[in-house]
Amino acid sequence: MRERALEWVKAKWTQEPHACPICANENWTVGDLGATPRLTEAGLLDQATVFPVIPVACDNCGYTMFFNARIAEGVLPPGIYKESSESSDEEGAPQGEASGESS
Ligand SMILES: [Zn+2]
Repeated sequence: MRERALEWVKAKWTQEPHACPICANENWTVGDLGATPRLTEAGLLDQATVFPVIPVACDNCGYTMFFNARIAEGVLPPGIYKESSESSDEEGAPQGEASGESS
C-alpha cells in the first residue's frame, strides 16, 4: 500500500516547488497508511468509524500532511474500507465505479 500511496502522491502533487511551509525543505517521506477517528454529533469518539489517511512528512522538521486515502483511488485494497451505512446517503465519493449499485 505504501508504494501505491507514494505513486499516488507523486501523481497529484504537481504544484512546484515541494517546499515545506514550515522550514522550506523539499524532501518528504510518504509513510504507512494510518487512520484518524471520527467524532459523533455529540462530540464523542465514534469507535466504529475511522478515516484512512496517507501521511506525508517533511524529512527535516516533521511537518505532516494527511491525504484522505478514500479519495486516493487504487491505494487502498478493495474492500478494506467499509462505508458506514448511516452516512452513505448522497455525499459519497463521486466515483464512477460505484454508481451502478442498486442496493
Ligand atoms: Zn519542514
